[in-house]
Amino acid sequence: MAKVSVGLRGWRFEESEIFTEDGNWRPFDEMHDEDRERLLRLRTLVTKPCDACFLVHGEEDIERCREAEIVYGEPKSEVVLCDEHEADFRYWFSEAGGDDYRGEDELQDAFHGWFDDGNRAPEAFGGVDHVDTDPEALPDPPNPNDDEDRYRITLRDAMEPEETDLDEDALDDIDLSADYPS
Ligand SMILES: [Zn+2]
Repeated sequence: MAKVSVGLRGWRFEESEIFTEDGNWRPFDEMHDEDRERLLRLRTLVTKPCDACFLVHGEEDIERCREAEIVYGEPKSEVVLCDEHEADFRYWFSEAGGDDYRGEDELQDAFHGWFDDGNRAPEAFGGVDHVDTDPEALPDPPNPNDDEDRYRITLRDAMEPEETDLDEDALDDIDLSADYPS
């Protein structure tokens, strides 16, 4: 049993629930509703800029926004972040009351409000060092409009490794297998 990410880090799927044994996508109607909803949502999210970058630069300076690398929260009220701003979300979630919004529709607005007020993770909070993790190597979400051949996945061997090394300053209890920082 292995957990895998698709498109962005953060949301995790049980590999056998979304892929057949020979590495093709399962048909959507064989998936759990939650998996299907997240995979479909990921198709939109992989093209989005980081929420925090967007709050800083806005539409008029969109080219300065970094690409989203990780997603937290529930579909439609999720937060997507670049590697740099992930630390701000983790800090907000674990130290600044964000945990109150776990599983709630208000999570996105609450984080955006906190960040937009100028709040940031302190320098000493540290970050997560994603050794051996190459987001570019995550498989793309399946496209329900494509013909069946396009469901075949060629990047299966390049999926996110299980091991993630935390740097010394990171909180001991961060668990990347969760949808939220712990
Ligand atoms: Zn960012």
